[in-house]
Formats: sequence, C-alpha cells, structure tokens
Amino acid sequence: MAAFTNESVISVRHWTDTVFSFTATRSPTLRFENGQFVMMGLEVDGKPLTRAYSLVSANYDDHLEFLSIKVANGPLTSRLQHIKAGDQILVGKKPTGTLVLDNLRPGRNLYLLGTGTGLAPFMSLIRDPSMYERFEKVILVHGCRRVSELAYGDRIMHELPQDEYLGDAMRGKLIYYPTVTREPFKAMGRVTEFVSSGHFYSDLDLAPLSAEHDRAMVCGGPDMLRDLKDYYLARGFREGHLGDPAEFVIEKAFVEK
Ligand SMILES: Cc1cc2nc3c(=O)[nH]c(=O)nc-3n(C[C@H](O)[C@H](O)[C@H](O)COP(=O)(O)OP(=O)(O)OC[C@H]3O[C@@H](n4cnc5c(N)ncnc54)[C@H](O)[C@@H]3O)c2cc1C
Repeated sequence: MAAFTNESVISVRHWTDTVFSFTATRSPTLRFENGQFVMMGLEVDGKPLTRAYSLVSANYDDHLEFLSIKVANGPLTSRLQHIKAGDQILVGKKPTGTLVLDNLRPGRNLYLLGTGTGLAPFMSLIRDPSMYERFEKVILVHGCRRVSELAYGDRIMHELPQDEYLGDAMRGKLIYYPTVTREPFKAMGRVTEFVSSGHFYSDLDLAPLSAEHDRAMVCGGPDMLRDLKDYYLARGFREGHLGDPAEFVIEKAFVEK
C-alpha cells in the first residue's frame, strides 16, 4: 500500500440516492494543485480497490473532500457509498490532472463547465484566490438531470461569498449557473446547448464567446466532452496541456466501460 496513505472519514453527506460527498483527514505530505484528481478507494480483501477522484477540497484545506457517484454494481462505489465517520479510505500520493490554471493562457472570462460529479474539480478551483486575479469573471455551469443532484449549490451561493479570505476576491466575479435536463427549473437544458446559444452570454451580460479573450475548463461524460471539444476547436480555441497552456482544457468525469 506504499502508493497510498490511510485516511479517516470525518463526515458523509448523501445528496440523493445516486450522489454523496464526504470529508476525510489529509496527510500533511499530500500536495496538490486545485483542480487535480487522485486515486482514492478502499482496501478490499487486503488489496487496494481505487478509482480516479477529483479533489473537492482546496489545496490549502487541512482535510480532503470528495463528491461521489453511487454505481449500483460498481466495484468501488457499491462499497464506498456505505462509509461512515471513522472508517478508513486509501488516498494516492500522486495527484495529477489537466484542469489546472497554469494550463490556460491568461484571458478575460473563464468558463467552468461540469456535469454530474464533474463539478468536483471546480469546487476546488473556485476557492483558489489566484483564479480571481487572473480572470475578470468566472462562470461556473453545473448540469445535472435533477435539481436535487445540484450538489453544493448553497455553499457556492451563500457560504463562499461570506468567506473571510475569499469573499472579497470572488464577490461580483463568480457567476453560478445551475442547469437540469429532466425536470422544471429556471435553466433547463444541456450544458452544451447553453454554451452554444447566444442568449446564454447576453442573459448573463457577458461578451460573445471569443478565443482571444475567453478560456474554458470542461469536465463531464464522454458525449459532453466530445461535443464541447468540437465546439471550442471550431471556434479557434486550442486545447491546453501540461507545459503547453492554451484556451481550453478538458478532463473525463468518468470512463464509459
Ligand atoms: C480523471 C477522473 C476523475 C474522476 N473523478 C470522479 C469524481 O470526482 N467523483 C466520482 O464519483 N467519480 C469520478 N470518476 C469516476 C471514478 O473513477 C469511478 O469510475 C467511479 O467512482 C465508479 O467506480 P466503480 O468502481 O463503482 O464503478 P466503475 O466500474 O469505475 O464504473 C462503472 C460505470 O459507472 C459509470 N460511472 C462511473 N463513474 C461515474 C460518474 N462519476 N458519473 C456518472 N457515471 C459514472 C460509467 O458508466 C462506468 O463505466 C473519475 C474518473 C476519472 C477518469
């Protein structure tokens, strides 16, 4: 288990019957950049059973936080969904990932587009003070099937703007735009549809999308990633990678098997 540290679960919150989040202790040796993911899981029959997980917590928090799906027959999450305070989890020692600020060129507005648990890396990033130094506006779009799946809405709208250290920096800069596809809501439709409609920008009082000024980070399922990658490439955006910053970056929220 040398690749992992053992951490203790501190608290668990079940948002719906398919989504939950939890906090855990953090090894003082774990360093990561906001937006990265890490291998995380459980010891099962003496062996590590781990999966890639984005860190919801910011890199300056003294605890870790994760947002998780519950897959009915999923090897990990069919077990992980039953964890409770005091249980042990395994956390990998090598965080990685492309959704980091240094993979984007400087710009005006930054769009953070996530579906389902694809919100997780953005929860970490929106608590990064340098985000608000680098961009004039940060627009966080979270798409889910149902309103109850829009995890962390309260934290984003009410807690973070009151945060002692972050509140001033982010107030007036962070725009939160939750959307759902399967029930009535103020914003109904797929994230891809919003982003590719002119109304979205004018309704939010934002300039029309431009590769010169705008940047995007995308985290979702395979279809959403493909559609948005095509959309941005067609508009002159280039995909950024480690050591080669550009106009947009993408990360899988999960892999379809
Ligand atoms: C870079 C990266 C980051 C990830 N970050 C997270 C995260 O922060 N939170 C999280 O819950 N999962 C995340 N995942 C997915 C995660 O690694 C596992 O797939 C998930 O925990 C389910 O594990 P499992 O063993 O129960 O089922 P698996 O055998 O891993 O998955 C079974 C099937 O369930 C579906 N599925 C898996 N994960 C999801 C999901 N998150 N949303 C919708 N459908 C899914 C897929 O169809 C998949 O084929 C991430 C994956 C990658 C590649």
